[in-house]
Amino acid sequence: MTIPRTDAQGAPAVAELGEWQRALRAQFPIITAHPELAYLDSAATAQKPQAVLDAVHAYLTTTNANAGRGTYPWANRTTELVERARDRVKRFLDDPAPERSTVHFTSGTTEGLRTVARDWLPGLLADGDEIVVPVADHEANIAPWLETRQHLARQGVHIRVRPMPYQRASGDYDHVALAELAGPRTRFVAVSHVHHVYGGDMNIHRIRRAVGPDTVICLDAAQSVGHLPVSVADPDVDFLVFSGHKAMALPGTGAVWARQARGPGFTPGGWSGTPNTVGIASLAAALDWLDAAGTDRIERWTVALAARFTEGLRHLDAYEILGCQSSLAAGSSVQRRQGIVTFRHHGIDSGDLGFILFSHGFMIRSDQHCQGSAGERTGSVRVSLHVHNTAEEVDRLLTVLATLG
Ligand code: PMP
Repeated sequence: MTIPRTDAQGAPAVAELGEWQRALRAQFPIITAHPELAYLDSAATAQKPQAVLDAVHAYLTTTNANAGRGTYPWANRTTELVERARDRVKRFLDDPAPERSTVHFTSGTTEGLRTVARDWLPGLLADGDEIVVPVADHEANIAPWLETRQHLARQGVHIRVRPMPYQRASGDYDHVALAELAGPRTRFVAVSHVHHVYGGDMNIHRIRRAVGPDTVICLDAAQSVGHLPVSVADPDVDFLVFSGHKAMALPGTGAVWARQARGPGFTPGGWSGTPNTVGIASLAAALDWLDAAGTDRIERWTVALAARFTEGLRHLDAYEILGCQSSLAAGSSVQRRQGIVTFRHHGIDSGDLGFILFSHGFMIRSDQHCQGSAGERTGSVRVSLHVHNTAEEVDRLLTVLATLG
């Protein structure tokens, strides 16, 4: 199959960044060891560059100890490493006032959001208050807030959960509905930065404008940190939660960044035990690597590949691409689609399609993607791209998909 290449398909970015990308791809041992395979599941977890593996090895062979407890050199160095990693997260997030924010390490976004919901949100809410929950988001950004409502109800504090709809036409949250449902009792809004199924870059600036200056915004940045420049300087969010393992660090790492501006200060409750020191070491190394690679270029690369893929897929009648269609076009006024493209075949079940694609060397995600109650009713296949992916992999995938038409 020959697909004409135009600017809309990201061809200039692919040509311009080709050399830069080849040098970065060469730094992923698991990728270079398997040239016959294409890893297209970075939204689930990201592969690790050599620099991260080296940092893990170096930490475990020179320094490994518990943090914040012993007084001998390895223990002191580990304590310092954890503190420096907090600063590294703030720098990575372009924090304009690091002296007024905190970073709490978690095992990932799910635990991070649940920590905010369990240890902080109840202190903000009074009987009759309202919170806004994005019901077509990842379950990790829905369940914790509903648990808070239940927990408060048991204490006689009744809060109202207002579901925030997703709007397919714009690829964004439904801002008209949000403006209507946000009122004087709205204290808290949970949102995602990049949607894990539809791939849209959700317009967080518009959320702030819709809810006004006093409402707390908690941003699920699981699909944006490591994929595009993310700055807490603007938009003005109060919490930003992400998974380190999706940003090239080890599994079991993640963080809650909290600005101490609205509501009570964020202090995760209870005895927290031994931190994941090696995971935190890997996170600091991953953020160094991502900054050196340039998250702006990573974004341009993955957006270009996603555009190339969607443009090719659009010409294949057997497939339906989920989410906003006009955001696929160049110059579209709706929010930009990032490097996530989810689709279904009209005649082949998504699980079967996953098996078929793996038989051709493609690793993709197929199911319902942990989406919440207002999500898709039937399964689909998700291709999610990162800097090690190539235009050749995308074209090869399109060729295989065309044969299944
Ligand atoms: N939120 C979003 C948007 C996600 O895509 C994911 C992971 N798929 C999560 C939350 C949960 O992340 P984790 O499994 O690392 O806790």
